Amino acid sequence: MALLEIENLSVNYGAIQAVRGLSLTVEEGEVVTLIGANGAGKTTTLRAVSRLLRPVAGTIRFAGRDITRLPADEAVKLGIAQSPEGRQVLARQSVQDNLELGAYTRKGSVRADLYEMYERFPRLGERRDQLAGTLSGGEQQMLAIARAMMSRPKLLLLDEPSLGLAPIIVREIFSIIRDLNAQGVTILLVEQNARLAMNASHRTYVLEAGQLTFSGNSAELVNDERVLQAYLGG
Ligand code: ATP
Repeated sequence: MALLEIENLSVNYGAIQAVRGLSLTVEEGEVVTLIGANGAGKTTTLRAVSRLLRPVAGTIRFAGRDITRLPADEAVKLGIAQSPEGRQVLARQSVQDNLELGAYTRKGSVRADLYEMYERFPRLGERRDQLAGTLSGGEQQMLAIARAMMSRPKLLLLDEPSLGLAPIIVREIFSIIRDLNAQGVTILLVEQNARLAMNASHRTYVLEAGQLTFSGNSAELVNDERVLQAYLGG
């Protein structure tokens, strides 16, 4: 049984059909990449999985359970967390407040988890009392990922984690993604930087205009003529 199973998913914004009949699976332990041009429907797909958008058709199953109509906070409790495009940290709250927010669906103390995040992201630890808005872009991205991890997800949805970051920081973010996966977190990754994302993932799905065009093992698709032409600069 796949950890995440999306079947025939369609999501509209009014008259705009953003996602049309999309089916994909993510197995436990995998990193799966979703690539596609701007507006292909990648963010919409992630937001449907995290239950921030309501599909017009299709089924989303998580660990065998139908979550298509589950409220977003229930999805978090089940083990789905998203790090959104553009980080969306609370700029006027401290780093620590942002992290605690990530654990809002959990009962009891989150001290141990905070400590764990500060170990994993030492720069967040050094800046725990600083307002999140004063962090660098890379630090804000780390905060967005750490905030998502505070809910102890089984499935982590990452939307454009490299967006707007310097190459050296991007490498750091991808090394964090690898570490999280090595520690058992399953990841569905949306990325503009297709090559990096494919190198860091087991499988890749290619979306065009809301529809799946093809998919396969990332290691094979990086050498696929269609992917090379359209997404890897020929
Ligand atoms: P990007 O990389 O630009 O974020 P994407 O692949 O994530 O692209 P989506 O953001 O999912 O694409 O958008 C899919 C389609 O839905 C696009 O045509 C987009 O213009 C449209 N769309 C997205 N959000 C909205 C919205 N809130 N209202 C109306 N249309 C929207």
